[in-house]
Amino acid sequence: MTTTRAKAAAPDAVDFLGLDALLSDEERLVRDTVRGYVRDRVLPNVARWFEEGVLPRELARELGELGVLGMHLEGYDCPGASAIAYGLACMELEAGDSGIRSFASVQGSLAMFAIHRFGSEEQKREWLPSMARGERVGCFGLTEPDFGSNPAGMRTFARRDGTDWVLRGTKMWITNGSIADVAIVWANSDDGILGFLVPTSAPGFSASDIHRKLSLRASVTSELALNDVRLPARARLPLANGLSGPLSCLNEARYGIIWGAMGAARTCYATALEYAKTRVQFERPIAGFQITQEKLANMLLELGKGTLLALHLGRMKDGAGLHSAQVSFGKLNNVREALAIARTARTILGASGVTLEYPVIRHMNNLESVLTYEGTSEMHTLVLGQQITGIAAFS
Ligand SMILES: Cc1cc2nc3c(=O)[nH]c(=O)nc-3n(C[C@H](O)[C@H](O)[C@H](O)COP(=O)(O)OP(=O)(O)OC[C@H]3O[C@@H](n4cnc5c(N)ncnc54)[C@H](O)[C@@H]3O)c2cc1C
Repeated sequence: MTTTRAKAAAPDAVDFLGLDALLSDEERLVRDTVRGYVRDRVLPNVARWFEEGVLPRELARELGELGVLGMHLEGYDCPGASAIAYGLACMELEAGDSGIRSFASVQGSLAMFAIHRFGSEEQKREWLPSMARGERVGCFGLTEPDFGSNPAGMRTFARRDGTDWVLRGTKMWITNGSIADVAIVWANSDDGILGFLVPTSAPGFSASDIHRKLSLRASVTSELALNDVRLPARARLPLANGLSGPLSCLNEARYGIIWGAMGAARTCYATALEYAKTRVQFERPIAGFQITQEKLANMLLELGKGTLLALHLGRMKDGAGLHSAQVSFGKLNNVREALAIARTARTILGASGVTLEYPVIRHMNNLESVLTYEGTSEMHTLVLGQQITGIAAFS
C-alpha cells in the first residue's frame, strides 16, 4: 500500500528551515511586537544614531513599555517571560542594532539579574520595578583597565569602615555607564569578590564616556571611577560571594547574545540577498553569478544552523537548564558565524557595503564588539577545551 504525502511547501528564502512553525502563538506575538518596534522606531533612525555616536535616553522607557527589560525575571513587575521569548526579543532588537540589544542585555540580564539573584528583598523592591519600566537605568562594572578576560585579578577594592564599605578603583568599557542611575560594581575585599549597588549620585563616583569607538556607536560605553565611594552595609548584594556572582550574570547575557547575533546576521543576509537580485553587472543580476550564489548559500546555512542552535538552547534553558559551557558553545558559534555572514554580505554589496546607507557595515562593526565582550571568542574556546578535555588552558 502506498501513502501519498502532501508536497512540501517551497522554503522561505530567509526562514529556510521553517523555524517559525516551531514557535508558539505567544512566542510569535512577542517576536512580532518587538520586530514592529524595531521597524518603526529603530530602523528609521539607527544609522544616524550610529553616525552621531548616541543612544537616545528615552529609548529606555520605550523598551520598558515594550516589556523587554528584565523580561525573563519573575516578580517585582518583571514580565516573567520564557527563555525563548526573551531570546526572540534579543534577536529582533539586534536585527535592528547590537547597541539596542546591548542596552536591554545590560539592563535586564546583568544589572537587574544581579539584583534579582543576589539582592535583598529591600534592594529588589527598591530597584527592579522602576528598572523594568526603564525609568531607572543600570550598568554592570566588572572589567578594569588591566583585567578584562581575567576579572579574578580585579584591583577595585571594598574596604570595611565600621558598618560602611568604602570602594576605590576603576572600571573600564562599561555599557550604559554614564546614563546609569545605579552601577552594579564588583570589588575585591578581605572576604573575596563582592557585589555592590552603587547609586551613581554617590559622592566619589564619576563616569566618563569612551569616545572614538568604531563599533557599537549607538551604545554608551564609559569608564567608572570610584574614588572612596562610601556605602552603607545595605548596599552590598548579600547573596553574592566570589567570582561566580558576576559570572552567573554574564551567563544570562551571553544567552541573549546567542539569539541576538543571529538577528544581526539575518539582517545582513536579507540585505545582501535583495541587493544581489537587483544589482546588475555584466548585464545580469549579480545573484546570477555562481560565486555570489555560493556566498548566499553559505550564509543561509550558518543563519539556519545558528538560529536552530539558539532555539535548541532556549528550549533547554526553559526545561532542565543550561550548563555554562553550553552557553559558551552558543556564544562562540553564533557570534563567529554572524560576523562571517556580515563580512560576506559586505562583499556582495561592493562599494555600497561600506556606507551607512545599508545596515551591513554597521552590523559588521558592531559584531566586533560582540565577539569580544561577555567573554572573548578565545575565552569561550578555552571553556569548551576545558570541558571536553578536563584540562584548563587559561594560564
Ligand atoms: C563595547 C564594549 C562594551 C562593553 N561593556 C562591558 C560592560 O558593560 N561591563 C563590563 O564589565 N565589561 C564590558 N566590556 C568589556 C569586555 O567584557 C572586555 O573587553 C572583554 O572581557 C575582554 O577584555 P579586554 O578587552 O581587556 O581584552 P584582554 O583580556 O586584554 O584580551 C586581549 C586578547 O587576548 C586574548 N587572551 C587573553 N587571555 C588569553 C588566554 N589565556 N589565552 C588566549 N587568549 C587570551 C583575548 O581573547 C583577546 O583576544 C565591554 C567591551 C566593549 C568593547
